[in-house]
Amino acid sequence: MADPKGFLKTRERELPPRRPVSLRLMDWKEVYEQQESGELRRQAGRCMQCGIPFCHQGCPLGNLIPEWNDLIHRGEGRLAIERLHATNNFPEFTGTLCPAPCESSCVLGINQPAVTIKQVEISIIDQAFENGWVQPHPPQRLTGKTVAVVGSGPAGLAAAQQLTRAGHTVAVYERDDRIGGLIRYGIPEFKMEKHRLDQRLNQMIAEGTRFRAGVEIGRDIAWDELRRRYDAVVVATGAPVPRDLPVPGRDLEGVHYAMEYLTQSNKAVAGDDVPAQITAEDRHVVVIGGGDTGADCIGTAHRQGAASVTNLAIGKQPPATRSDSQPWPMMPTVFEVSSAHEEGGRREYLASTVEFLSDGAGRVKQLRVAETEYVDGKRVPRAGTERLIPADLVLLAMGFSGPEQDELADQLGLPFDERGNVARDGRFETSEPGVFVAGDAGRGQSLIVWAIAEGRSVAAEVDAYLEGRTELPAPVRPT
Ligand code: SF4
Repeated sequence: MADPKGFLKTRERELPPRRPVSLRLMDWKEVYEQQESGELRRQAGRCMQCGIPFCHQGCPLGNLIPEWNDLIHRGEGRLAIERLHATNNFPEFTGTLCPAPCESSCVLGINQPAVTIKQVEISIIDQAFENGWVQPHPPQRLTGKTVAVVGSGPAGLAAAQQLTRAGHTVAVYERDDRIGGLIRYGIPEFKMEKHRLDQRLNQMIAEGTRFRAGVEIGRDIAWDELRRRYDAVVVATGAPVPRDLPVPGRDLEGVHYAMEYLTQSNKAVAGDDVPAQITAEDRHVVVIGGGDTGADCIGTAHRQGAASVTNLAIGKQPPATRSDSQPWPMMPTVFEVSSAHEEGGRREYLASTVEFLSDGAGRVKQLRVAETEYVDGKRVPRAGTERLIPADLVLLAMGFSGPEQDELADQLGLPFDERGNVARDGRFETSEPGVFVAGDAGRGQSLIVWAIAEGRSVAAEVDAYLEGRTELPAPVRPT
């Protein structure tokens, strides 16, 4: 341990500055600047190297956080990336996109702000790519076994990388025209620039993973046909079915699911021609949903030149500070209000949408909203609080209900659990032998760090199924 008193000398938690709002609204680049190396080392030095590091347990991947904090404090970036890659295939994804449950678990957070674990993580991987320390790791030998991974989000990519490195011949199928799933088309560039994804895919291609974009399993190739072609199949198709808002006026033009909007925006930013693109330019935008996807819509709408942006959240306003009775770091303090919220717009809490109103020509013009209250355990609009707000683009960002079921049920006969996720046993295997499921398709909507952890774990189970044994790590079990 380089400095046992680091947390006493550096009491302030410092993150790198965010670029000025006026500048960042003019482009799609990431919001944070790089942290100056001296400050980064001081921040890493705040880690107390706890005997029982709760940060480690707070991370589904079991990231070796105290170890790489110490290495960064001592200026050992190359060793730090080795320790980081030991548990995490894609630290550039978690370092930009994860809400960092490790920081909520940080012991220092009891009486000081938590260690800037996520910032240290992204700095390690940035430094590693800059210095050419991220190299392909092709397998030493090939097993002759084949695996199809369906879905190229974080769970599918993690499974594919682990299985390729174990010597299996792996093909990743993606129905979209580019690889990356939610990371490619669901996440705006200002949260994670796509070159991060592309440089990782280049590593995977060099290792031997094969990618098949623009192929929809279930339509272009039937699931049962895929099962016949490969020795094992991993279903990592996510939980893309969005929650709807079935109130009067839902069918009006101008009311869209958030993912439809974000996908089109990401394609346009990538330089694609997007006919009849849904755009916020000069529109009064209402985003319904107070989570990360809602924040992504807000930031995107501002960059497209929205006339106004209103965010309706069904929940209560989160407290700004910790209470005496709950000294641990809480979501709002550690997860922080998204950068998108400081770029403008208005947030309304406990806001319930009663009705979408038309302009008379079939297009949404206003929302009727009301305050929410609980009656017999159900959320209902409070009488007498209704009012109208202008809206000519409404984005529904209320989360996802689960995976698409039809083709999996029809072609493979897979059952689903009571939450609508693909049913699986304690080894991630479905009722169809040799067909496994990982990530949101099996767990339900969750964090990116859980998806990567599930991808690593399912790879271990597939490897054991194919080879009778495995040395791959399995950080999590199915719930
Ligand atoms: Fe360091 Fe916090 Fe982890 Fe303790 S819990 S080892 S202080 S990061």
